[in-house]
Amino acid sequence: MTIGDLFDQTVAQYPENDALISRHQGLRYTYLELQQAVNECARGLLKMGVQVGDRVAIWSPNNAEWCITQFATAKIGAVLVNINPSYRVHELEYALRQSGAQTLILQGEFKSSSYVNMICELCPELKDSVPNKFHSQRLPELKRVICLDEDLATEGMWTWSDLISMHDQVTEAELASIQAGLQFDDPINIQYTSGTTGAPKGATLSHHNILNNGYFVARRMNFSAQDRLVIPVPLYHCFGMVMGNLGCVTHGATMIYPSDGFDPYVTLQAVQEEKATALYGVPTMFIAELEHPEFNNFDLSSLRTGIMAGSNCPIEVMKKVISHMHMRDVTICYGMTETSPVSFQTEPDAPIEKRVATVGTIHPHLEVKIVDPESGNLVERGEKGELCTRGYSVMLGYWNNPEATAKAIDKAGWMHTGDLAEMDADGYVAITGRIKDMIIRGGENIYPRELEEFLYTHPDVSDVQVIGVPDQKYGEEVMAWIKLHEGKQMTEEEIRTFCKGKIAHYKVPRYFKFVQEFPMTVTGKIQKFKMRELSSEELG
Ligand code: ATP
Ligand code: MG
Repeated sequence: MTIGDLFDQTVAQYPENDALISRHQGLRYTYLELQQAVNECARGLLKMGVQVGDRVAIWSPNNAEWCITQFATAKIGAVLVNINPSYRVHELEYALRQSGAQTLILQGEFKSSSYVNMICELCPELKDSVPNKFHSQRLPELKRVICLDEDLATEGMWTWSDLISMHDQVTEAELASIQAGLQFDDPINIQYTSGTTGAPKGATLSHHNILNNGYFVARRMNFSAQDRLVIPVPLYHCFGMVMGNLGCVTHGATMIYPSDGFDPYVTLQAVQEEKATALYGVPTMFIAELEHPEFNNFDLSSLRTGIMAGSNCPIEVMKKVISHMHMRDVTICYGMTETSPVSFQTEPDAPIEKRVATVGTIHPHLEVKIVDPESGNLVERGEKGELCTRGYSVMLGYWNNPEATAKAIDKAGWMHTGDLAEMDADGYVAITGRIKDMIIRGGENIYPRELEEFLYTHPDVSDVQVIGVPDQKYGEEVMAWIKLHEGKQMTEEEIRTFCKGKIAHYKVPRYFKFVQEFPMTVTGKIQKFKMRELSSEELG
């Protein structure tokens, strides 16, 4: 089944259900209304000349048009290229060139950055050509640029309303015939990885990859057509687009966008006012919500479930989400863009300790193994090794990058995640960090995750990240960056005393740094490679 077919099937089943509520835009669609918007967009794209296999890039924060474009491109078999809203000219050029996108849909501006100015810097021809004669010297494959804001579009750009108004020049029957010719394993999406460890890589995913993953993720939370999900995570990332949008569409549930950029207050308000049953977020988002000064004034009693994922989920935060946010069935997921993304998820009815301390068990129809990263041999249960997964969710490959693909997916089809994990006797897996983040101090392996969990138990600590920094004597030394709760103060002496006798002496960080923030990707992930760069410079 293709994504377009699945979408139509859900519409037929739940036509009057709320499909999409984009609160910051004041837009609401039932499934039937959303189908009409999607089909008009699909027919407009066909009229503009978009063909099966063409790449359509979208560069925009969360909004209804993003969702409409996602399902419209799936219906015509165009490959959607998700572009990170925080990208600037250089990264935009990289993604457009790397994906060979023929079409770019963009928002005019966001948070005082003009996307129009940035694309015009790359393609000055957009200023005074006409849309159907547009040709870029620098990006020869780019044929058309469609701006969501009519007022900000330049002469050479189409606008979103131009696109939609063209729909009546292509019939519903023509659209249906194209949709019927698509294959479930065709590429449908290029998603760039978060860029937590370096330059983002473009994972190419099929209908089959992401449609099934969206289904299984929502299934594990017992989603139904009565569920209403608040999605504050970005759509350009698989968390929003697959686990959020596709998770809802596979079950007839409601997608609710609280805002275009993350805001804890607005997110909590959306939960209350829309009587949401589910909420997503990365750990830093849940921390910001729980710590919001007005947190206690919100009625969150409609919440039942949700997902915390993306990076390690501190046990203390997880417990608070269950008790203070009413999310008794909240799940933790582990995944990566390259695997559609989810491969592990906790089950709502699993024992509480397993639900907070592990990422759960493997998803249906997937295989897992944990191997010694050096030898490739299986490790014993309870021992750490590299997590590898295999099955329907493994991407088709990195777009136009066979070398990187061959490094990530071996000949037997196993995806090598680059993450360290251990599995207990019951098959529950705990992620213990990234291979790249592991600290080797004088021959001892130190796992930052373990130290972070420990330091996090100090009541004044709001967030903590541990990294390795170069050291002449030991090769690497341990450094902790600590963010304190509002109004709290702490000396290095105090935190050292706190560690004394509780953790092995070689694990006690040699350096502490008190910070307000950590370097982050827009998905809210902490970029340890940037922390390492900054700290190495500071330490000389
Ligand atoms: P890049 O590959 O560009 O460096 P990235 O790996 O962060 O960035 P994503 O594909 O968005 O890009 O994230 C996948 C990674 O996120 C996983 O490989 C893992 O390291 C981390 N991760 C995801 N979920 C969890 C989790 N529940 N616990 C710990 N880590 C997680
Ligand atoms: Mg990665």
